[in-house]
Amino acid sequence: MTTALVTGANRGIGLEIVKQLMARGLTVYLGARDPERGEKAAAGTGARFVRLDVTDPESVRQAAASLDSLDVLVNNAAVLGGGPAQAPGSADLEDVRLAFETNVLGVITVTEAFLPLLRRSARPRIVNVSSSVGTLTGMGTSEMPIALGYPPSKAALNAVTLQYAKALRDTAIKVNAVCPGWCAPEVNGRTPAQGAHIAVTMATLADDGPTGGFYDDEGVVAW
Ligand code: NAP
Repeated sequence: MTTALVTGANRGIGLEIVKQLMARGLTVYLGARDPERGEKAAAGTGARFVRLDVTDPESVRQAAASLDSLDVLVNNAAVLGGGPAQAPGSADLEDVRLAFETNVLGVITVTEAFLPLLRRSARPRIVNVSSSVGTLTGMGTSEMPIALGYPPSKAALNAVTLQYAKALRDTAIKVNAVCPGWCAPEVNGRTPAQGAHIAVTMATLADDGPTGGFYDDEGVVAW
């Protein structure tokens, strides 16, 4: 039995990742910080709800203690945004701090807590859900948003991905970052289900698959 945990999975792309992993036959833990929202989302899928606020180390510790095994960890939870509250020159530091607390330290907190279980798995995979707005290549262009929180937090997440991949390269654990693509169905027609696809692909990689990379549906993303 292959088991997976998806953080921030009570809605959006995370919920779609849960559904697609279940469709592939995995046993899936749906992580959510709010019990009501989490239970409700899990009830519709057959997934098992586990309470987990990535910014609350005690809730992460309890979540890890409640599982007997884990093969796949999908670090999906994030606070999105950018906009005026993260504008250089007039930034709200609380907004910027929340982006880093959730999108970077949250991922490290969760990964550290679940690594002991992943080390015991035969085919362990870690997928960090990042974004192309976090690429330094993209940030240097005029098309990408200007914000001190979300894009830099995803750049830091990419760096964290590489650090784990390097540290774990002599183990079976594969660690990759993915970009779901901009999912705004009403604007560009791209659905969260489509966005979930690349995370599911990297979560179910074969043993000869890559580690330490950044991927979207088209292939390798330039850091
Ligand atoms: P979303 O709809 O805003 O959902 C975010 C999820 O994260 C929610 O379930 C939210 O829970 C949860 N979350 C936030 N803070 C949390 C915390 N402290 N602990 C646990 N859960 C927390 O986001 P999305 O659009 O599905 O995006 C999912 C991932 O894809 C994110 O990593 C995002 O950066 C990435 N991404 C998205 C897009 C896009 O176009 N949507 C593009 C590129 C990358 P609550 O419901 O309790 O708030």
